[in-house]
Amino acid sequence: MEKIIEINHLQKSFGEIEVLKDINFSVSKGEVVCIIGSSGSGKSTLLRCLNLLEIPSSGEVVYHGQNILEQKMSNAVYRAKMGMVFQQFNLFNNLNVLDNCVIGQVKVLKKNTAAAKKTAMDYLELVGMSQFINAKPHQISGGQKQRVAIARALSMEPEALLFDEPTSALDPEMVGEVLKVMKNLAKSGLTMLIVTHEMAFARDVANRVVFMDSGVIAEDDVPDVVFNNPSNERTRTFLKRIL
Ligand code: ADP
Ligand code: MG
Repeated sequence: MEKIIEINHLQKSFGEIEVLKDINFSVSKGEVVCIIGSSGSGKSTLLRCLNLLEIPSSGEVVYHGQNILEQKMSNAVYRAKMGMVFQQFNLFNNLNVLDNCVIGQVKVLKKNTAAAKKTAMDYLELVGMSQFINAKPHQISGGQKQRVAIARALSMEPEALLFDEPTSALDPEMVGEVLKVMKNLAKSGLTMLIVTHEMAFARDVANRVVFMDSGVIAEDDVPDVVFNNPSNERTRTFLKRIL
């Protein structure tokens, strides 16, 4: 399977504190990888390093065979390829739903507005938000905002989507609608890397589950093994605590 991204000996420190320690893993085309682990274990920092929202202290982030920490591709273009969906949605509050999905295509991908609007409409339709194109973010619910954020990321035609706890800020009754959209994306073959506390979702949808503990990958295996027969004692302890 073609590797989209590969991380070699990735290390990240903030001042004296080493937050990621010798991380090695890769994501292949079409894979859905869920990342689980306690708060503070480094999950967000890992996603942010993959997206270059944080610059790793050392190691390699290899994208289609090239270390992106060395190559010339602009960060904005690379970030479009590795779309990110955040816990707090991060929509532009002054723009309506449609323009939220158009602006990046025009500014970063240099598409013309008509083509960008068409693409945006297609993805807003896909997430069930096409009837809200004129709404401002404050006029829609959290679940709807997150679906718009997913459509916005998809509008950039990414090769992979990175999700950082996409349902953690939602009221419980809105979690399902977002997970449903994500499950459909997974089925459609989109490559996804998802930090989540939704263990039932991870078990159901992931091809692989990565357990992070204190800045290291303690377990990286198929869901059945991670949830039913983990090799690492710390994985067992974590799962016992949350399941
Ligand atoms: P998780 O997403 O698993 O909860 P994070 O990646 O957010 O973990 O954080 C891992 C560790 O790195 C935590 O101890 C956190 O306080 C620290 N950290 C994260 N971002 C920064 C930052 N910008 N400056 C200093 N410390 C940070
Ligand atoms: Mg986090």
